[in-house]
Amino acid sequence: MRIALIAHDSEKPEMIGSVTDHEGILAAHDLIATGTTGSRLNEGTGLEVTPLASGPLGGDLMIGSAVANDACDAAFSFRDPMTAQPHEPDVSALLRICDVHGIPLATNRASAAALLAGLSDDGGSP
Ligand code: PGA
Repeated sequence: MRIALIAHDSEKPEMIGSVTDHEGILAAHDLIATGTTGSRLNEGTGLEVTPLASGPLGGDLMIGSAVANDACDAAFSFRDPMTAQPHEPDVSALLRICDVHGIPLATNRASAAALLAGLSDDGGSP
């Protein structure tokens, strides 16, 4: 399975914490991320993450494209609920394409934990 990871700046510590908490499960999957999130995860966790473009430069759209191509099975997009993002339309597009394709999307640490618990329960299918 391929899992996409995205965190707005204020949420990057939460993403690193969430990924660290679930390293055992995530190690079994192919991980892609927006650019800065991916770099921070590669530095701050024991996992190997493939960084795409930074979010504001199109990384969210690249992940949306993977979802549209049936090349992404789950996504974590930890959004900053307090600060408007310059690439908000791209973020909204990602949420929409996940709904179009029935791809599970976790938008905070609690929903990420629930999604990963589901993955570990059923052996890997979302
Ligand atoms: P970043 O992008 O990981 O490159 O910071 C995340 C985002 O803002 O969508």
